[in-house]
Amino acid sequence: MSRDIDVAGARILAPLSSLLRKPLRVVDSQSAERTDAFTVHLPLPHLSVVSAGGAPFSEAERHLIYEIFDLIRHAEENTVRVQELQVRVNRLERENLDLIVKHRILSENSSRDSLTGLYNRWYVMDKIEAEINRSLRHGAPLSLMMLDIDHFKNVNDTYGHMAGDQVLQSVGKLLRESCRVYDVPGRYGGEEFCILLPETKLDNTSVVANRIRERLEMTGVDVPGASVVVTASIGVAGIESSDTVITGAGLIDRADKALYIAKEHGRNRVEFWDDAMSGLGRGQTTDH
Ligand code: GH3
Ligand code: MG
Ligand code: MG
Repeated sequence: MSRDIDVAGARILAPLSSLLRKPLRVVDSQSAERTDAFTVHLPLPHLSVVSAGGAPFSEAERHLIYEIFDLIRHAEENTVRVQELQVRVNRLERENLDLIVKHRILSENSSRDSLTGLYNRWYVMDKIEAEINRSLRHGAPLSLMMLDIDHFKNVNDTYGHMAGDQVLQSVGKLLRESCRVYDVPGRYGGEEFCILLPETKLDNTSVVANRIRERLEMTGVDVPGASVVVTASIGVAGIESSDTVITGAGLIDRADKALYIAKEHGRNRVEFWDDAMSGLGRGQTTDH
């Protein structure tokens, strides 16, 4: 008997013997000496059950043997299928985990500005809309700060574009370090930055805006052969209690107008939006 047949035989012998209550042997069909009433041939894997005690098998016993054999075979097939399914489930779980990690990395990258690591314009704009909705619903204050580096073109012209990039990175770091965890600091574009300040009244932004402005003018950025100091102009706007409808674009426009006034009044200063600025035209405020 081959080892496989040995194993298969052992598996069916025990249940058969205990059910039929008679001495049995399981042999390789080819070596079965008899094909008479004492022998039951089973299909695959070519085993024969032999009655070893001198009593032949009755018809009922034969059927019982076939049925038990069928049951054992199906149980084994099912065990194999369950194992195969488990392997597939494990593989799918691993693939799912990979996808989740990749998705996180992608969405994290797509919300970040690659130079400064701050949130990018698109992310910030989404956040502004979401925070405005929340603020209007709950009557919570909300402020937005727009910051534009003064005479930044001079930095590029004097020290080169690479040095300009280093300055932008340093400003990004300073903004990040100046924020609370729930503030949203972003690079709005070029040398223009913003910070969205949830739960913050316009009146309470003066301290943080001026602290950023002062830190900036005290921080030299080391570039090859020089330490570059830049200043920034800052415009701040907030949602007012009388506001019932305002869009993200509307809030950005208010902060932009305040920023325009900060530039007009000599740069390196902070200005706050008020109704009197509403009259400023669009073209006037976009060039800073
Ligand atoms: P103002 O005080 O009126 O804001 O003057 P400014 O020179 O800062 O403004 P302007 O709009 O004339 O110039 C902005 C400059 O910022 C020009 C542009 O080349 C530079 N800039 C924009 N994006 C980048 C960048 O990613 N890297 C570098 N190095 N420079 C940039
Ligand atoms: Mg500028
Ligand atoms: Mg600008």
